[in-house]
Amino acid sequence: MGAGQVKNILEIYKHRVIEIQKDARIRYVLVCKNSGSAAGSGITHQHSEIIATPVIPLRMKAELDGAKSYYAYKERCIYCDILEEELRVGSRVIIETERFVAFCPYAPKFPFEFWIVPKEHRCAFEDAGLDEIDDLSHVLASAIKRMRTALNNPSYNYVVHTAPNRIPRRDHWHTLGDDFHWHIEVVPRLQRAAGFEWGSGFYVVPTSPEDAAEFLRRSGGDV
Ligand SMILES: [Zn+2]
Ligand SMILES: [Zn+2]
Repeated sequence: MGAGQVKNILEIYKHRVIEIQKDARIRYVLVCKNSGSAAGSGITHQHSEIIATPVIPLRMKAELDGAKSYYAYKERCIYCDILEEELRVGSRVIIETERFVAFCPYAPKFPFEFWIVPKEHRCAFEDAGLDEIDDLSHVLASAIKRMRTALNNPSYNYVVHTAPNRIPRRDHWHTLGDDFHWHIEVVPRLQRAAGFEWGSGFYVVPTSPEDAAEFLRRSGGDV
């Protein structure tokens, strides 16, 4: 898909998330894409999934809690700090535009995992403006094209990590707007989780993020 089509899809994500969050029973809206059978897709045509739950999923809760405790300790957003460090070091950056950075994280769970993070601090994807969505469509389309070229069209997943539904409630936390920073995580399905990963929650990654980023930078990503 070209950037124009990706932009339409991102706008649909945004509008659906906003609409679903009007239901106060919904705590979290998860947007993801499964492409290819190794990514768990049972449908042959390209599609995304949107799943709303009355609880915050455990993995997302762990990430939100981690960001919150970092904020309580440093009084800064961990993702803003990560971005600053990634741009300073540079060796894990795949694409940098006016508004986004795509990079391989320092400690990935999977080889060639990469994140797309907006430069402007915002806790929720659905608050992204038109210019931001436009820029993101180019970064996402280009990054996926690079991944497909570099890794011979692998199955992959991506997940939009956004804030939980912000309808005020009893256990609502008040630093959410400051402590969380939305982003997209992309994982090509190159290897299956084995017993050690399943048993420990630790992940063995055979490719360094620096090598992965260099490989993806060198692969063509014109969209
Ligand atoms: Zn931030
Ligand atoms: Zn995340």
